[in-house]
Amino acid sequence: MTYDADIVVAGAGHNSLLTACYLAKAGYRCLVLDARPIPGGGAATEELLLPGFGIDTCATGHTMIRVNPALSQDELGLTANYGLRYAEPDPVEHVAFPDGEQFTMWLDRDRTAEEVARFSKADAAAYLRLLDEYDQVKHVFSQAQFTPVGFGPSLEQRLADHPQGKIWARRRQLSAVQVVRHEFESRHIQAFLLWMAFQVFQPADEPGSGVLPYAQTFGRQQRSWSIPIGGSGQLTAALTGYLADHGGTVLCDQRVTRLLLEDGRCAGVETEDGTQYRAGSAVVSTIHVKHLRDMAPADSWPAEFHYGIDTYDVGVPGFATYYATTAPPEFQTPDGPRTAVSAGLAGWPEDVIQMGADLRTGRFMPEPAWLLVATPTLVDPGRAPAGQHTVKLLSPQTYELPEGAGGWETVKREHSRRTLERLRQAAPCFTDDVILASLIKSPADIEELNPHMIHGAFHGGNRGPAFSGALRPAPGWASHRMPIAGLYQTGGTTHPGGSITGAPGRNAAIVLLQDLGHDPAAIMSAPSGDGRAVTVAGDPA
Ligand SMILES: Cc1cc2nc3c(=O)[nH]c(=O)nc-3n(C[C@H](O)[C@H](O)[C@H](O)COP(=O)(O)OP(=O)(O)OC[C@H]3O[C@@H](n4cnc5c(N)ncnc54)[C@H](O)[C@@H]3O)c2cc1C
Repeated sequence: MTYDADIVVAGAGHNSLLTACYLAKAGYRCLVLDARPIPGGGAATEELLLPGFGIDTCATGHTMIRVNPALSQDELGLTANYGLRYAEPDPVEHVAFPDGEQFTMWLDRDRTAEEVARFSKADAAAYLRLLDEYDQVKHVFSQAQFTPVGFGPSLEQRLADHPQGKIWARRRQLSAVQVVRHEFESRHIQAFLLWMAFQVFQPADEPGSGVLPYAQTFGRQQRSWSIPIGGSGQLTAALTGYLADHGGTVLCDQRVTRLLLEDGRCAGVETEDGTQYRAGSAVVSTIHVKHLRDMAPADSWPAEFHYGIDTYDVGVPGFATYYATTAPPEFQTPDGPRTAVSAGLAGWPEDVIQMGADLRTGRFMPEPAWLLVATPTLVDPGRAPAGQHTVKLLSPQTYELPEGAGGWETVKREHSRRTLERLRQAAPCFTDDVILASLIKSPADIEELNPHMIHGAFHGGNRGPAFSGALRPAPGWASHRMPIAGLYQTGGTTHPGGSITGAPGRNAAIVLLQDLGHDPAAIMSAPSGDGRAVTVAGDPA
């Protein structure tokens, strides 16, 4: 029997590329297939609007992946050998509130606390306490994130062993709204922290979101909204560069439609033109689990798996507008104009609760209580022609539209325009005169671009208690091993979830390396060297 590769990988998002890189590091021949014309999934930069304007197709902020050992220990040499570099913008964030007040977060924590004190002296102390308290447990949450389920103590066990564990056991089950209202008295500071908590599109009024204000704010206070110099696609370029140097191949325009099963085992995949790719050792998928399930006969999966996937909540959809501009959005503040790479509009806590209710009921939101405005060119001018900018407006939205509204093609221009007008109340100089070109992506457009972002929901699915840890994506199958032998799942639908963290990708590599008879820690920490594989794999299992 000949194989097209040792490992066939379906989907080339940053997570599955990371998995492939570690397997290549162990000496496996990896073949990665992606439906899009370019690899990277949500980590891509494209000239979507005008020549010379490098637009991040999806993600811009990479704060969370920077604590992944892949980067913090440079296990693959992505920094040393493949040119991956990050900027840490200062100010970190700038938001405007519904009453016109504004707030700036700086990389200097004391300067941020001074800003908090403008609204409440008690909250300035509470803000520093928030940072210090999370500092004490950050390693607990981080270790749980970067350990595959079943390969170490659960988060519950880790917290039980921690001196502050009882507080965090309660806090992590509360909602972000409950936590923030308990700790802070100013509505403005509450609103800011809820805006921070919503960064991964987990409704802040839902149980289980209570750690997010801590984790998101702490991460940003440490490393800002880190952005890769040159755009999100630079992470993908580093990963595909590593893969190419270690015998891997990435094939684009290859949509996987079927899993090849032989003797109850996943032996490879088939793409929509009927081409079959056979794997000697394993198949890795980052296809959405709901789609993956349809790629094999229904009786290949146990009933419990079907139940887990049927009830899997795909999460909150998003709506985006991209601009090429001659000026950044400048917020008008009493101290003069202010710009920030990451900025936005932050609704009051009661607006955030209403937003959660609207998202759950599927009620279209003309004016969502959360808006992000990303202008990476403020610190990375090479992404656009001299003096010009790329700007992205992002907000949550429902996938379904009200009866009679027509489809997204009818609704999206007016909705985009309304969002822009809202931004202009705080940033009035961001007029039509500065906009050279724009592109709107509704939830339906986002889904069409990448079916892993099912319904335009791009953070991998709800991360509430029913969909976390040992329950993600389905109870019993949280360790990346799927019910079909030889098939492994990674990406945002697996622990610990979506966003640019690389955690599901590295965790899946740990499981696969162990199943293939290796010591994952030894492979991962081995010097990455000069482009040659560090160990030679044995015969495929
Ligand atoms: C507008 C927008 C802004 C965002 N901003 C941020 C941000 O600033 N920070 C952040 O952390 N996150 C952000 N995200 C979310 C982030 O992009 C995703 O959570 C992340 O990319 C998920 O990574 P992944 O590796 O799990 O999968 P993906 O990036 O979704 O990659 C999956 C890959 O699989 C491919 N694929 C799917 N089905 C098939 C198939 N059948 N056959 C072949 N290939 C297939 C897709 O083409 C894709 O390349 C944003 C997303 C969007 C849309």
